Amino acid sequence: MLYRYLSWFESEPADALLPYDGEAMSNFVTLGALSAIQRTRQITCMDCGHEFALQLYGWQEGDVKCVACGGRVKFTTEYMSTQIKLDWLADVLARRLGGPDKVPQTLVERRLWRLANAATSAGEVPVYLLRAGWHVPLPPIVSKLQEESTGRQILLSSSPLINEKLADTNRTIFAIDEVARMETEGIWLDLRRLGNAVTAPYPLWFDLDPSNDRLTIGNEVLVLRRNQKEFMRLLAAAHKAGHRAVNWKNLMRQAGYDANYTSLTQAFSPELFRFIDTAKGDVWIRKEALPRSRAGPSRSFKERANDDNH
Ligand SMILES: [Zn+2]
Repeated sequence: MLYRYLSWFESEPADALLPYDGEAMSNFVTLGALSAIQRTRQITCMDCGHEFALQLYGWQEGDVKCVACGGRVKFTTEYMSTQIKLDWLADVLARRLGGPDKVPQTLVERRLWRLANAATSAGEVPVYLLRAGWHVPLPPIVSKLQEESTGRQILLSSSPLINEKLADTNRTIFAIDEVARMETEGIWLDLRRLGNAVTAPYPLWFDLDPSNDRLTIGNEVLVLRRNQKEFMRLLAAAHKAGHRAVNWKNLMRQAGYDANYTSLTQAFSPELFRFIDTAKGDVWIRKEALPRSRAGPSRSFKERANDDNH
């Protein structure tokens, strides 16, 4: 049942009238996933030739004009039709995840919903629903998700064709058929499967070797010295626990640095800032190491010359 529903859910345009096929559709109408069926007329404009369909009663037909040019129309076939109720899936999933009163939040109209938060030891993990398909404008969806949080996210996509543009280290993406099934009584979520994803070790985008000597991001390697090792070990552990950023003053104190620093840049070289970033008293490991030419705000000519020699 789920596949049939998802093919309607993803079809475009979203508000298209679907000719009612009783056998295939009645269960979905009963569930509320499809709207109540209505009498429908196929209509052709006698002026511009535009063809369209409208749900209407017989007594309304005299008032119908062409939706394209306002011209006179003629009626052809009559049938029953229904429509996909796009919010239904988000509503049901939100209740499954967040309890009977949970209402999903629409983030991108007809595309992206925030369903609920899953509570974990590292905080709340939001769960989203994406209405995917072949032609999805991804930039607004990706930027909305980034705006939401940089912490862990779980995204349920209606399609198993997961676009790599949606992938991110902090985002676990499931095709909805991996974690849900649909029966005539409704939709069921495999909460154990979802729960495993929520509590699994946080996906890391960097590697800190066991002796804390080297921090690797992609192909870039930073060699750590003295207190930097403990500083980075603590920072990596915080990321591993799902924290997006950490207060740098506490971290420096724990790592055995002098307490008199008023800025992180006093303690660390521009080379180190290629791998970490700081704002509002917090520090975090960058998703990507900065290229050497852009490292740090206050690089001397000599440092640049050294880089060129490497
Ligand atoms: Zn017309």
